[in-house]
Amino acid sequence: VTFDDFKFNRQILNAIADAGYTEPTPIQQKAIPPILNGQDVMGIAQTGTGKTAAYVLPLLMKLKYAQGENPRALIVSPTRELAMQIEENIKTFAVNTDLRTVVLFGGIGPKTQIEQVTKGVDMIVATPGRFLDIYLAGHIVTKQLQTLVLDEADKMMDMGFMPQINRILEVVPVKRQNLLFSATMSDKVHNLAANFLEFPTVIEI
Ligand code: AMP
Repeated sequence: VTFDDFKFNRQILNAIADAGYTEPTPIQQKAIPPILNGQDVMGIAQTGTGKTAAYVLPLLMKLKYAQGENPRALIVSPTRELAMQIEENIKTFAVNTDLRTVVLFGGIGPKTQIEQVTKGVDMIVATPGRFLDIYLAGHIVTKQLQTLVLDEADKMMDMGFMPQINRILEVVPVKRQNLLFSATMSDKVHNLAANFLEFPTVIEI
């Protein structure tokens, strides 16, 4: 399997080559086709397996062009460190596109983040609390969200983010694609998956 086997466009294939990736990792091989197909996916994969690119690449392909002001994908991360890493991945692969991403996390004032969101973004990477703060202040329109990603779901459960995740689920469109990634499969993650995913493709590596 090579990256050319997926239906990526030239901009994305060039960015993959420039990043020095020659072949997809196992999680990428298994997750990219169902995500491109619009299915819900649950991926059980540790950090270091290439799980970020496994959802970032098909997401970028599905979004393709910057469109309007409202975000179409939301990626929720338990920590600001992971959120920043995800944004770095997105920047690497979106380099030949006009897609716009913002990263939202706590610990700093929200002013710049609000300005960035208000300018118009295609993708949001966020920690749960800061996403809700900015959403509840009226700065994020969720009606065009097509894809919701929960990354490191086990860590989010361990950190007690279930109430925030449930609140986020109340404010996003009912009809959407859901992707859940977790390093481990605990009871809490299982319950979250049962509540969050619809007929998911389950990938364990
Ligand atoms: P992740 O598991 O997403 O945190 O990725 C771990 C590391 O592997 C990151 O430094 C990625 O840039 C790198 N990586 C991901 N996919 C590939 C690939 N197909 N080929 C080479 N390196 C990769």
